Amino acid sequence: MRKLYQICLFLLFLISWMSIVHAKPQVVATTSDLGSLVSEIGKDKVSVTTISKPTEDPHFVDAKPGFIVKLNRADMLINGGLMLEAAWLPPLVLGARNVKIQPGNPGYMNAAAGIDVLEVPSVANRAMGDIHPLGNPHFMLDPANAKIVAAHISGRLCQIDKKNCEYYRNNAATFSKKLNQKLSEWQKILEPFQGTKIVTYHKTFPYFAKRFHFNVVGTLEPKPGIPPSPAHLNTLIPMMQKEDVKLILIENFRERKIPEFAASRTNAKVVIVPIMVEGEKGTDNYIALFDYIINEIASALKT
Ligand SMILES: [Zn+2]
Repeated sequence: MRKLYQICLFLLFLISWMSIVHAKPQVVATTSDLGSLVSEIGKDKVSVTTISKPTEDPHFVDAKPGFIVKLNRADMLINGGLMLEAAWLPPLVLGARNVKIQPGNPGYMNAAAGIDVLEVPSVANRAMGDIHPLGNPHFMLDPANAKIVAAHISGRLCQIDKKNCEYYRNNAATFSKKLNQKLSEWQKILEPFQGTKIVTYHKTFPYFAKRFHFNVVGTLEPKPGIPPSPAHLNTLIPMMQKEDVKLILIENFRERKIPEFAASRTNAKVVIVPIMVEGEKGTDNYIALFDYIINEIASALKT
């Protein structure tokens, strides 16, 4: 009898412990840059899961069905929006059958809301194969946009976990302040290279280029999501020679042969950078990611 009583007590303890654990908001982020911002703001008061690997192209993610279970239990889903995840997120959300993370509810956060979106095409220009039909979705590569997203996250966490609202707001303010300091530091490092002409693989860097005053004169892809073709390179390479392009900036998940081929026929250097938190050793938070990207570019342009 005594043993049965002890087992009951233990079970009661286990149930209450599990409910405490579950009381933490469960947040699912589509990419590690967004996940990292949630961690900056929620810290120990939220549990964060990221779907895509930081070394994956965010447009084409091999999302395991196991994430359906995570999404089913999630209190919040944060995604980049602008159809960044259009090829892989909808089936996961559908399978999760979780009303909390449906658009219109506080648990659904489109990070693009409030962002000044670049490259918004007119309806007539939405050519086939273009994977940026609503404008450029790579806005997290401008640190100033991360401040907007951070404030948005703290607002959403306040809605789903009211008791810790002040904590989230304070963390977002601290993050924003730190980001402001770092932004001036990064701008100073890149100041000598303002106006440098660069080519990128995909249209990943227009927000970055605008913030740090680089001039993106072309891309190896003829159109976002369409692989480089010989015909396109036949036009691009002479243009790069004429414009004296100094840098081919590519993400670390791209193939290297075509960028290296273009570099071998021009004055440009290939610089390979991660674009997601934890995409490379030493980039375990958003600020560290930018430290890495900025130092790689500055070192390549200095020599
Ligand atoms: Zn893209």
